Amino acid sequence: MATVKRLPSCIQIPLDEEELKDLVSKTKDWAIMHGVGIRSKTAFSEDSLNFAPFVLLPTTFPRKQFEKAVEIQTTLNELMHRVAHNREFLRETLRETIQVDEFTGNLYKIWETVLDEGVAQKTCLGLVRSDYMIHSTEISSIKQVEYNTISVSLAGVGNGISLSNRYVLEELGHFDKLHNLPENNALTGITLGLLDAWKIYGDPKSAVLFVVEDITYNICDQRFHEFELKRLNPRVKVIRKTLTEIHFEGALSSENELLVNGIVISVVYFRSAYTPDQIPTKKEWDARLLIERSLAIKCPSIQYHLAGTKKVQQALAKPGAIELFLSESKKIEAVREVFTGLYGLDFDEAGDQAVQMALDDPERYVLKPQREGGGNNVYGKEIRDTLLAMKDSRERTAWILMERIRPPISTGYIVRAGNTNPPPLVEMVSELGIFGVVIGDSQNISVNRQVGHMLRTKVATADEGGVAAGLGALDSPYLI
Ligand code: ADP
Ligand code: MG
Ligand code: MG
Repeated sequence: MATVKRLPSCIQIPLDEEELKDLVSKTKDWAIMHGVGIRSKTAFSEDSLNFAPFVLLPTTFPRKQFEKAVEIQTTLNELMHRVAHNREFLRETLRETIQVDEFTGNLYKIWETVLDEGVAQKTCLGLVRSDYMIHSTEISSIKQVEYNTISVSLAGVGNGISLSNRYVLEELGHFDKLHNLPENNALTGITLGLLDAWKIYGDPKSAVLFVVEDITYNICDQRFHEFELKRLNPRVKVIRKTLTEIHFEGALSSENELLVNGIVISVVYFRSAYTPDQIPTKKEWDARLLIERSLAIKCPSIQYHLAGTKKVQQALAKPGAIELFLSESKKIEAVREVFTGLYGLDFDEAGDQAVQMALDDPERYVLKPQREGGGNNVYGKEIRDTLLAMKDSRERTAWILMERIRPPISTGYIVRAGNTNPPPLVEMVSELGIFGVVIGDSQNISVNRQVGHMLRTKVATADEGGVAAGLGALDSPYLI
């Protein structure tokens, strides 16, 4: 294997130990006081916050690749909006998967139900995030990890970390470096999407419903969206409910308006309902169906949720697939360039070949089920065991195989609650996310924007790096 590249640090490190200790203490306070927070998993209490894990200094990221990711966002939005509205493509792509993967199957049933009944609300709101890593073994290029259509997080706290990293550079006197920190208004951008949908619905008394988990650890990120919405328009009501509560308190009016305790809901913003344990019983599935049947604008609608599955990502990487949705060759080329090798595991020649490739060289791939939220993928030698166990069973069709991206390594300080101060200098890798807003129906796209970014960084030896999942740390890019 070719050697992995290294990225230089934005300033000279290591820092002097005493200076570092003081800086870390101060930045922890800065983070808490600016809402870069998260609730403790080990000592959960509604009454207190920890700072969210963060990287002390901004991490170097190649400017050209950053700009490419920013530039391509509206094209990806267009592509995914069209995919979500192409029944044939979704049906064909998910045909096997929904028979084997119960969760995706249940989502699909909701979609079929509302299609049969007639879709009440034709407008969809997509608040999305396309994630990337730099692939660095040959020439450096940016590669898409995945495109998220549900519950995309970190626009809220991501703003704070951009400012925190700026504060640290200022504290160290590096004023000349600040121009390499790109501006980030992801929170306002994403929230304006919610507000646009609320306006399109057109009922000034209506509320925005946040569908939330039973326990919310990532509370700051969610509240930032709520409070930003209030800042933009204090008259918009916001309600937070779990699916279980919606089951008991929700109903449809005779005009299919969604009512929660009698209040009309114009926009449903899912910050939950993307993992099987978040829709555990029939009650919660019924609530999900109730929402989809309603006139409320859903973020995401059920077809947007389905379009965000890994199986769809893999199908789009097949030759000729992007061309079904985009016509401009420049756009098609740009999208194809960010895709990496993706393979289905169906029972056909291509699927058998993919299984064999992975068995022969498991380190080259990541094996992915149709799950969200981190911690579900299989890496390295375990790929072989997992594949051998399901090689002849239908279960394998619910998984995809993806080429493993090898990001360049940077060096820095990760600050995490409960860890020693000063923190050790560690080797890290980063994942960039670009946020998008798209609003439209099966015919038209009325809003299509790129609205900001976030960077997540993890120690180089970890396979995954979710911040809420406790593996990654918030970060911001330093462009070179
Ligand atoms: P999820 O929807 O659970 O976030 P992802 O596809 O983003 O699923 O995978 C989770 C994590 O696994 C990513 O954030 C990244 O750290 C790692 N990962 C996923 N795909 C790849 C890949 N092709 N190469 C390297 N790492 C990957
Ligand atoms: Mg995801
Ligand atoms: Mg992800």
